[in-house]
Amino acid sequence: MAAADTPLLMLNAPLVASRLGYPDLSGLDLLELFAFVHPARFMVPTPKGLARALGLEEPSGDDKVPQLLQEAAEALLATCESADWAEREGAWTALQSLVRMSWPWATLLTPRIRKPDRAERWLFAKLPEWEEAAERPQPAQVVLGEAAVVSRLAELTGAGAEARPTQQDYAREASRMFAPRQGQGQPHVVLAQAGTGTGKTFGYLAPSSLWAEQSGGTVWVSTYTKALQRQLRRESRRAFPASRNGKPPVVVRKGRENYLCLLNLEDALQGGFAGRAAILAQLVARWAAYSQDGDMIGGDLPGWLGTLFRKRGIAALTDQRGECVYAGCPHYRKCFIERAARASADAELVIANHALVMVNAARGRDAAQRPTRIVFDEGHHVFEAADSTFSAALTGAETIELRRWVIGPEGKSRGRRRGLSARLADVASYDEEGERAISQAREAAEALPSEGWLARVVEGTPSGPLEELLSAARALAYARDESGGQEAGYGLETEIAQLDGGFIEVAGRAQEALEALRKPLVRLGLRLEAIVEDGPDWLDGPARARIEGARSAIGWRSDLIAGWIALLARLGGPGDPDFVDWIAVERSDGREWDVGLHRHYLDPMKPFANAVLAPSHGVMMTSATLRDGDDWQSAVERSGAPHLDIAPRLFTADSPFDYASQAEVLIVTDVPKGDIPALAAAYGRLIEASGGGALGLFTAIRRLRAVYGRIADRLARGGLPLFAQHVDPIDTGTLVDIFRDDPRASLLGTDALRDGVDVPGDSLRLVVMEQVPWPKPSILHRARRLAGGGSAYDDRIIRARLAQAFGRLIRSAGDKGHFVVLSSAFPSRLLSAFPAGTPIRRVTLDVALQSVGASVSGRESAQTPREGIS
Ligand code: SF4
Repeated sequence: MAAADTPLLMLNAPLVASRLGYPDLSGLDLLELFAFVHPARFMVPTPKGLARALGLEEPSGDDKVPQLLQEAAEALLATCESADWAEREGAWTALQSLVRMSWPWATLLTPRIRKPDRAERWLFAKLPEWEEAAERPQPAQVVLGEAAVVSRLAELTGAGAEARPTQQDYAREASRMFAPRQGQGQPHVVLAQAGTGTGKTFGYLAPSSLWAEQSGGTVWVSTYTKALQRQLRRESRRAFPASRNGKPPVVVRKGRENYLCLLNLEDALQGGFAGRAAILAQLVARWAAYSQDGDMIGGDLPGWLGTLFRKRGIAALTDQRGECVYAGCPHYRKCFIERAARASADAELVIANHALVMVNAARGRDAAQRPTRIVFDEGHHVFEAADSTFSAALTGAETIELRRWVIGPEGKSRGRRRGLSARLADVASYDEEGERAISQAREAAEALPSEGWLARVVEGTPSGPLEELLSAARALAYARDESGGQEAGYGLETEIAQLDGGFIEVAGRAQEALEALRKPLVRLGLRLEAIVEDGPDWLDGPARARIEGARSAIGWRSDLIAGWIALLARLGGPGDPDFVDWIAVERSDGREWDVGLHRHYLDPMKPFANAVLAPSHGVMMTSATLRDGDDWQSAVERSGAPHLDIAPRLFTADSPFDYASQAEVLIVTDVPKGDIPALAAAYGRLIEASGGGALGLFTAIRRLRAVYGRIADRLARGGLPLFAQHVDPIDTGTLVDIFRDDPRASLLGTDALRDGVDVPGDSLRLVVMEQVPWPKPSILHRARRLAGGGSAYDDRIIRARLAQAFGRLIRSAGDKGHFVVLSSAFPSRLLSAFPAGTPIRRVTLDVALQSVGASVSGRESAQTPREGIS
């Protein structure tokens, strides 16, 4: 009632709303004000974080927070009046729009922001243009001297740092990947297991920076998590100068769906977004003018900004659906995506993720963009990334996307999305053959699913050959699935086998329809190639760039369709042992959202070896958990090297940490499996015993939510805040920032937290796993299990997961903590997952609570006393 009457001063309204169970809460949210006053500035969205960001005194307790919020509001408003406000430019103009939108802060800001004497530069005028650069020559063949590598390492770690022999060995080993290649398709492959604390980042940055400097080439470092990407960006500053010849030598490269699309933003600012979304667009425009690289997801746009506005505002401002019109776009020369792509061709170090490296290697637009020296950090994830990159999914969502790409907007749909014929109008008017191909492709695309396909498929009234296929596939999944998902509301799946004649016939018609689309696309691709070679008068720079862009898009879409055709062609015949094919109905909470046929390689490292390894000259895969215990075999198989008959170099550096005294593994044997009240009680008591600082890991979202719902309130009342992925309306990166910032906070999460969390120090002192992390018994898993040695395969996966989760606990030499698994039947053969020397005990919950509590009181008696810990 208070909130409805007067606008309340709040910090993170959606979070407050979700805690109160009052979804419509709104008011004066300080996070919005902060985003306006200091765009592109990092802040942990908590009272403490706010105080720190503004140089105010941190509140000593919850009762001091209301006072802080008022001081913070005044400090932010006062900044707008000060002469040295760094982010003043553009504020007045943005505010005028925000006043019209009745943004709650606008009336308070208006008297504080004076009208500038001269008209402010509009965002699109302010951003710098990228420049075309000359092509780079190929890198020189150099051999790195060991002494030079070690002395570069010493420069990076700093003169005062103690020389670490293991790190030096690691750096020397990493330098081997840069040796000149001796045979075509035979890169140097190094697999390096480096225990936590080895200092592997500098270990490989030392030879990488040396090689890039001496050879004039580019090294790609690929990570799986955004957290490591951020860390690398920070640490690479020591290894590379801020600028060389006026260009940044280090570039972070992500998939295009991460960056702001200026054309989408312009649409949004000019009326494309309404209500709260329009306010978001204004705040994003403020940020874009100050952003380092326009990266909206994990870059310098605060991760919390999008969640303040619910809905999918941020995603709608990126180029999610490949709508880019390249040189046809008025902002092409200022486009963040184009800038990042060009900068990476010139860079000495490109920081990217596994998926992007694989996509670039497999279908890079030009040779300069193709990585040839690659360090895969978090190398234990290369297999998973290859698995999704080199798979095919013939689903409703994928096929309707293809239809939209070919045909463009239909019916009432809005937006600037244009079809092939509009994008290539000049080609059509110049080249008859090209025009014919475009119109044939357009006609053939009519066979693809269209708006409303899912409802028709569910109701059994499909329209067109592809919808008919999806309908038949869905019916089969419902008929055959025995996973238990039907009752629980999860996804359904069934293998593609024992199909009847009717299904094969439907699949045959779908295959013909796809062939009819692929053929004109291939012809069109060839015509475009010929036109670029002919170079007619109208083909100026921008037109050429647009046609090149279209050619590459047509190229990979033809390959995509070819993959689908191959999948359908196999249906009636004998299975291909290289692939695992299945039908899936994707559902969450009982609601269907996609249906289709899937094909994965049984061993995705086979295409990885051909597309990524073979063209490379040197590749290193490194991680703290590459091997299985002491065994290298599965790591070697999972590197892809055997497919090229390469025996990789193997290197191990043990962690310098003293696990015997820093950590303890407790296997709690008396919490019955499947008993949610008992599970929740165990979590609650463990978190209380450790006074927070706990990371709780779950294998199922459902159980995570159930546990959270039972304990969050009680813990919060005791001064132990609990946050949870899939519950709190906050992105995962920000949740980890909040957790890191408050030693009394705890965090519950699923897979992404198992190895994406780097929290050294006191904030993380307890990791609790709800059970043994068994792999999900999917059809794909069953096939790989069969090929990989049955239960031994499962054990390897579980040990890897345990090792990754355990790795969160001890991040620095001073860390101490407990790793608890709630499992009444934890098999002994899995114990080798933990580092040698780590004490392991099987205990009851009561004993575990005593151990956890005792170590907390030990720590506390060494520090200052704390209140309220049971
Ligand atoms: S070039 Fe493409 S991605 Fe860049 S702003 Fe224009 S439409 Fe968006």
